[in-house]
Amino acid sequence: MVKSVPCPRCGKPAPFAPANRWRPFCSERCKMVDLGDWAAERYRVPVQEQPEKAPEEGGEER
Ligand SMILES: [Zn+2]
Repeated sequence: MVKSVPCPRCGKPAPFAPANRWRPFCSERCKMVDLGDWAAERYRVPVQEQPEKAPEEGGEER
């Protein structure tokens, strides 16, 4: 019995079994694309300190 899950990338049913190295994705391609997106997100949105921005405490002063 092989359970299938929808590939998070393309929605195609992907076998959720040890035989599927790319689970829960349907293929290496989908997995790589997804990981690539993740990496891009992380580079695109670096953690930035914003000392100019006041914290929420006492926000009604102005
Ligand atoms: Zn896929």
